Amino acid sequence: MEEKLITTVPGTRDLLPDEISRWHLIEDRARQIFTRYGFLEIRTPIFEATELFARGVGEDTDIVGKEMYTFHDLSGRSISLRPENTAPVVRAYAQHAMHRGGGLTKLYYIGPMFRHEKKQKGRWRQFYQIGAEALGSDHPAIEAETIEMLLELLSSLGVRGELLLNSVGCGRCRPDYILLLRRELQHRTNDLCEDCRRRAETNALRVLDCKVRSCQPIVMQLPRITDHLCAECADHFRRLQGFLSDAGIGYGIVPRLVRGLDYYVRTAFEIVSGDLGAQNALVGGGRYDGLSEVLGGPRAQGFGFAMGLDRLVMLLPEDAGRDAGYRPGVFVAYLGEEAFGKGIAVARALRRRGVTCHLEFAGGSLKSQLRQANKLGAGHVVIIGDQELRRGRYLIRRMEDSVQWDVSMAELLEQLGAGGS
Ligand code: AMP
Repeated sequence: MEEKLITTVPGTRDLLPDEISRWHLIEDRARQIFTRYGFLEIRTPIFEATELFARGVGEDTDIVGKEMYTFHDLSGRSISLRPENTAPVVRAYAQHAMHRGGGLTKLYYIGPMFRHEKKQKGRWRQFYQIGAEALGSDHPAIEAETIEMLLELLSSLGVRGELLLNSVGCGRCRPDYILLLRRELQHRTNDLCEDCRRRAETNALRVLDCKVRSCQPIVMQLPRITDHLCAECADHFRRLQGFLSDAGIGYGIVPRLVRGLDYYVRTAFEIVSGDLGAQNALVGGGRYDGLSEVLGGPRAQGFGFAMGLDRLVMLLPEDAGRDAGYRPGVFVAYLGEEAFGKGIAVARALRRRGVTCHLEFAGGSLKSQLRQANKLGAGHVVIIGDQELRRGRYLIRRMEDSVQWDVSMAELLEQLGAGGS
């Protein structure tokens, strides 16, 4: 009986070599640009104590309440695959007392996140984020600088995104605004979707974020948070806009843009792209000054973002970065068993000299091997046949013009070794 093929779990996928050049391009570019801005890479574990996210992201958020991959490990601990990486980075910052050096700590990460979301185009259950976190400053200039870095990355990749900006106030001004929001919503509960009816009680800010069509007319009429900021928050927001304008960065203010977590303060932003379809958010970010303390760490201000790598890849042309893909400099063709052994030795010697070298283990006729070399785009083919073997000589064929010549091993290495022709 034939076994049924085992395939990937729904919501996950393989990233095949054909696509990976785009991923490398983005990752390499991000490392380059982020480093230039003083962000250093951090790699945290893929799973963490569930409590980190329960406290750090919030138990009544969709991410934690509905979408987390949580299980008990063999020692009975509750573990969760990370659904996001800000809480883990802030945990690491506190755990390793990175604040002790004083000043700013700037960290970036690249890696997979896990959320059991409804399947949809642009939404995966294992997806990848590139994110950056600047810890230790509440200055609006660090926000503008981080956003500038992000936009530089996007524009270097030829991707255009729209920057949407808001201020969600702080512990001083937000509670009054939420009271106001609740009062307004009380008159309209019958017109709200079921989720919003609940949110109106538990987390009224998130009503602003509702995507259900029937809620839209109500949401549009709700008071704007930007009209109810305290003097400090209003000043912060105004200064941020000043720094962005100084950097020549355009933005739209969207008072409905909220990140529904209590410790988010002041700046919230998104970058959206019209080319992405329904799931148009490419980047989400904001200021989270209270997070470190919520996790039991020191008082520390923070600002950061997470960008969806899967979505960014969708915006790049299919062949982006392809040049960096596999293209052997030399293809070793051989005829017969003895020549095969020699072929392995030639490939080894060339690779040690820095040459990308390809050897097909299937053998076959010279014609079929040359065809394969051509398909791979090899620059030269080394041909080893009986005759060559007997004479201790090799044939080099230049693929571009099919010119062939005869060489000794030493000449072969000299001519084809890295730095040779
Ligand atoms: P968030 O952490 O929810 O603010 O998401 C930040 C960014 O990650 C989003 O703007 C998306 O680009 C990306 N993202 C979030 N969830 C998913 C998902 N399930 N699949 C693919 N990308 C996602």
